[in-house]
Amino acid sequence: MENVIIIGSGPSGHTAAIYAARAKLNPLMFEGMFAAGVAAGGQLTTTTEIENYPGIMEITGPALMEKMREQSLRCGARILTETVEKVDLSKRPFKVWSQGIEYETKTIIVCTGATAKRMNLPGEDRLWQRGVSACAVCDGALPFFRNKVLAVVGGGDSAVEEATYLTKFASKVLLVVRRDVLRASKVMQERAKNNPKIEILFNTIPLEILGDKSVSGIKVKDVLTNSEKDVPVGGLFYAIGHQPNTQFLEGQLELDETGYIKTKLGTTKTSLPGVFAAGDVQDKVYRQAITSAGTGCMAALEAEHFLTDECPPSLRSDKRGG
Ligand code: FAD
Ligand code: NDP
Repeated sequence: MENVIIIGSGPSGHTAAIYAARAKLNPLMFEGMFAAGVAAGGQLTTTTEIENYPGIMEITGPALMEKMREQSLRCGARILTETVEKVDLSKRPFKVWSQGIEYETKTIIVCTGATAKRMNLPGEDRLWQRGVSACAVCDGALPFFRNKVLAVVGGGDSAVEEATYLTKFASKVLLVVRRDVLRASKVMQERAKNNPKIEILFNTIPLEILGDKSVSGIKVKDVLTNSEKDVPVGGLFYAIGHQPNTQFLEGQLELDETGYIKTKLGTTKTSLPGVFAAGDVQDKVYRQAITSAGTGCMAALEAEHFLTDECPPSLRSDKRGG
């Protein structure tokens, strides 16, 4: 029986693996096999330069994740390149299935992340990370976007936050909103309306992303008049929500109304003792590599405490290997 199974392999999963391995819990990680459409290593494998991970000034997303994986292995974690299909959390030990094989474990750390929703517009695949992004905080500061007119699609809090952030670098930000109102909270709506660099295009949907090697504009449609036009922009950011990767849990943990795992404030404890959640799968506000890594560390420490203090005596920590 395993002490700790870690599901997912982004920054939270690997940080949890490093801490759990160093605590001699001999963790087993399922890193996923293109789970939720993302390669093992998680969302950072889909981007280029990472400039905001402290201590590392020049690295690409895939290279950073490769280093994290190497460190997990060096510390003694075991990694299976498999996707967890289902779990049974109804009694201890918990059960986890992958490729039809059943694993028993005393604790689980869920690190399966979230996937930014995309629109699959014509031009999107060609220009992804060449001016099209789903994370302004991650990519907005790149020299590529400086002093250009940029567009953000969405009308929620994320869209306003991302548009506001982009005004630091852009000459102007167009907020492309499909209805005649913003979904964002009142305070965020005010923020958008009072920012002289933000222009809101209500009742507007993007139809196509223009440009060959980089974004040169978007084709948009006014949904009231059905008229279409090309708008020159140097970048397009999606802020139309994220999908947390929690489907495989089949409702066995408490989720919020948008599918994120609920954790107890200031901890990674879920609604079930012995099951912890870290990273974007439980965080819809910060969604950064460093915050994911931070909660991965918390989850491993909390799993270790659980195995020492709270677990039924028959399931207490069996510290092997590591
Ligand atoms: P994720 O990175 O979301 O990875 C989760 C992993 O779990 C995935 O590999 C997935 O396949 C796997 N998985 C899912 N389900 C299962 C399953 N059932 N079984 C096994 N495995 C499973 N943040 C920054 O701090 N700086 C940046 O510059 C930056 N740039 C970004 C650029 C882009 C394009 C994107 C999309 C995000 C960026 N982010 C950046 C955000 C950052 O990538 C995320 O906050 C971070 O990766 C979240 O880490 P995580 O550990 O929650 O897991
Ligand atoms: P939301 O689901 O709140 O908003 C998504 C926005 O994208 C909506 O305006 C929606 O339009 C629009 N949208 C969705 N699909 C499409 C599409 N296909 N085409 C065009 N527009 C589309 O997601 P957020 O990520 O903004 O927020 C998620 C949660 O996180 C919320 O609870 C939010 O309050 C919270 N949050 C809080 C922050 C803060 O307090 N600082 C910061 C960021 C997030 P429509 O309105 O028409 O449905």
